[in-house]
Amino acid sequence: MKEKLVVIGNGMSGLRVIEDLLELENDKYDITVYGDEPYVNYNRIMLSYILSQEKTFEDTIINHQSWYDENNITLNKGDKVVSINKEDKTITSKSGKIESYDKLLIATGSNPFIPTTPGSDLNNVIAFRNKADVDTIISTIDKSKTAVVVGGGLLGLEAAYGIAMHGVKTILVHRSGSILSQQLDTTGGRLLQKNLESYGIEFKLNTTVKEISGTTEVETVTFSDGKSVESNIVVFATGIIPNKELAIDAGLESKKGILVDDFMKTSDESIFAVGECVEHNGNTYGLVAPLYEQGKVLAKKLAGKEVEGYSGSTLSTRLKISGVDLFSAGDYLGDETTEELILLDEKVGVYKKLVIYDNKIIGIVLYGDTADASWYLKLLKEHTDISDLRTKILFGKSALGDSGHGGDDVNSMSDDEEVCGCNGVCKGDIVNAIKDKDLKSLDDVKGCTKAGASCGSCIGLVEQILVNTLGDEYDNTPQGICGCTDKGHAEIKQIIDEGDFDNVYDVFKKAQWKTEDGCAKCRPAVNYYLLAKYNDDKYMNDKRSALVNDRNFANIQKDGTYSVVPRIWGGLTTPKELKDIADIAVKYEVPTIKFTGGQRLDMFGVTKEQLAPMWKDLNDCGFVSGQAYAKGLRTVKTCVGNTYCRFGTQDSMGMGVKLEKLTWGSWTPHKYKIAVSGCPRNCAEATIKDFGVIGVDSGWELHIAGNGGIKVRVTDLLCKVETEEEVYEYTKAFMQFYREDAYYLERTAHWIERVGLQYIKDDMLNEEKRKYWAARFDESQKSAQVDPWAKAIEDGFTKEFDKIVINPEDSHSFEPKGV
Ligand SMILES: Cc1cc2nc3c(=O)[nH]c(=O)nc-3n(C[C@H](O)[C@H](O)[C@H](O)COP(=O)(O)OP(=O)(O)OC[C@H]3O[C@@H](n4cnc5c(N)ncnc54)[C@H](O)[C@@H]3O)c2cc1C
Ligand code: SF4
Ligand code: SF4
Repeated sequence: MKEKLVVIGNGMSGLRVIEDLLELENDKYDITVYGDEPYVNYNRIMLSYILSQEKTFEDTIINHQSWYDENNITLNKGDKVVSINKEDKTITSKSGKIESYDKLLIATGSNPFIPTTPGSDLNNVIAFRNKADVDTIISTIDKSKTAVVVGGGLLGLEAAYGIAMHGVKTILVHRSGSILSQQLDTTGGRLLQKNLESYGIEFKLNTTVKEISGTTEVETVTFSDGKSVESNIVVFATGIIPNKELAIDAGLESKKGILVDDFMKTSDESIFAVGECVEHNGNTYGLVAPLYEQGKVLAKKLAGKEVEGYSGSTLSTRLKISGVDLFSAGDYLGDETTEELILLDEKVGVYKKLVIYDNKIIGIVLYGDTADASWYLKLLKEHTDISDLRTKILFGKSALGDSGHGGDDVNSMSDDEEVCGCNGVCKGDIVNAIKDKDLKSLDDVKGCTKAGASCGSCIGLVEQILVNTLGDEYDNTPQGICGCTDKGHAEIKQIIDEGDFDNVYDVFKKAQWKTEDGCAKCRPAVNYYLLAKYNDDKYMNDKRSALVNDRNFANIQKDGTYSVVPRIWGGLTTPKELKDIADIAVKYEVPTIKFTGGQRLDMFGVTKEQLAPMWKDLNDCGFVSGQAYAKGLRTVKTCVGNTYCRFGTQDSMGMGVKLEKLTWGSWTPHKYKIAVSGCPRNCAEATIKDFGVIGVDSGWELHIAGNGGIKVRVTDLLCKVETEEEVYEYTKAFMQFYREDAYYLERTAHWIERVGLQYIKDDMLNEEKRKYWAARFDESQKSAQVDPWAKAIEDGFTKEFDKIVINPEDSHSFEPKGV
């Protein structure tokens, strides 16, 4: 007869114990789980991404109902356990169920701490702890009101960022003088604050909330500095308290949390506890990594296996805010007995600090460049003597000269370096699992090793390991469109083709979306399909549905600054243009300028505030945006061709300039690159572009669907043509056919592999169809060839920049040169 194991708490640590246990012993226990929340087991960490609209709830589900069914686990959702009787070995639930157990696991997590500020009992004063809180925040925030978030810790910052991403004015109140004071020193805090201010968050430091007032709901918030603000929501992220009441009432020993030994056993032989609700050796934890370590020990114990006891954890944290790289671990503050190694470049926004004791790293703070985080953490955990590395250590692993690449490159990582901090998974574990268990996709790796399955910060690294280990066999095919719908791209495109819609929400309704507003994955896709059908003049491009770079008209870089790339037609420029760019770069103190692979100049390190005035100056000199951020035409690369090259058979520079003027401003499912070479020597690398044109004696060869990048694909030859006019027609027709036929975010290389070369040739080589597509392209270009910054500056407004800060008297004199 199986033993009966009852779990109280359907959250992250309790269910991880069960997953680990089932891997070791799947027939030892009859398992019953009680969960207060009305859902299956979901990833609480991802609530931040739901709030910032980067994920849907569906994306955060760890175990679906089918998993419980397959493993014969009885799940009682939405049924709180109200008492434990350790003498009878039973528990009682709110719905009145009495359940007996042989072993009981308490995994009740924490309760948010909300201070007893006057007015904190009003409606819309809430915490940020569970799915219901996120639903309330999203349905309450209002663009005409200010949201107040209290608490400058990880949770508070993620709440403020998530709210600000809805375009709502957000004030973050923090009682001390520096944010994230549990994880960062003051320098790191200052840099982080500056970065977050660029997202529109206002900080009130050394301040508390004195009073919240309103009739039944929040109306006004008054701060300790005497100032007040009209607000309709206050989110408290001011700490957590282990949820131990049930255990206390049952007579289990507890202090800060439920007391457990090294095997997670409470003061009762049959009752175990794990997660945020426990206290081990005087410590309580509020991050998943230590809870999963505890869970591993307990799973082995429950399975009856030999196991070394839990001995505590080293904590490391990352902030889950796009564009903010932050990592800290260990004793990052140090004291009079420790030394500090510091690298600070305020302008670029990079700060690295290692706290050293007895020649060993005991604390790490990395801001702006976290590439070497796992290496430093390994040195810390292994107590490595760093005397020999001291002079170079802050410049990262690559500076030691034996790895050849930056520290974030998986090639430079050793097998025992940690990739996934939440789940304690090293590179070697992932590589071995891929090889031994024949894993092919990110989901396979997540399912098997758990790497990337918690906070998601390491997914990029895990993907790199997959690519490096599997090469071409790596399966990164997108699975369906997103969790908001069961429909795939083809079905959605068909619904749009057959109906008449003027906004994305009507499509969601017609296609029976599971969510009202869609998510950051499906909104841009549906918006794109509508644009492709109607063109921008008939359908209003829904800016809210655009990706962040498209909304900013600039690429956000890893340090939170932006890059500015003016269009350089066909890669040809003049001394005057170069001088104009140089003058502007000097005026705005641009720290780095790079010649790009697409033959233009990329100005890096530009702040958000500088973007509009800088573009105004560039526009005035006749430049338009290079749209280096866009899902649309990026560059037309050319070689010198027969104008100067002795091998040249055709004027590739002239052709490139004409093609770029024909196609600039266009938008496509993914980025799109063209190249023109003057002869088959192909110096412009036209055979790895989306559309490649190669001059030959008799005219031009047209090549399609090539791709550089991680997986190189060489183009297929579409056809040969004799005249320049034919090149233009094919260029337009192919681009339009791709635009309307491919799925959103599908590169031409993936599209052709899905539909086949012949399918594309059938339309392109048929004169009537080709002319049809070319004509549709001409039509859509009429409204597309508008420089985004010139328009935004003229309108005095973009969604992201509210008011553009340029003297209104300084009238705008934009006229793109030679277009
Ligand atoms: C927004 C947010 C972002 C976070 N980001 C990170 C991060 O980036 N990295 C990180 O490491 N950690 C992060 N955390 C913390 C992490 O989510 C927690 O440490 C983890 O969820 C704790 O697991 P747990 O099992 O102890 O508690 P929980 O996951 O909270 O699970 C406890 C469950 O027990 C249920 N319960 C309580 N009492 C009862 C009862 N009497 N009967 C039945 N059910 C009951 C609760 O409803 C809950 O569902 C974040 C937390 C939040 C809220
Ligand atoms: S591709 Fe041909 S024409 Fe162009 S630069 Fe190279 S050799 Fe000269
Ligand atoms: S190859 Fe591209 S994506 Fe990779 S580091 Fe260079 S710029 Fe970034």
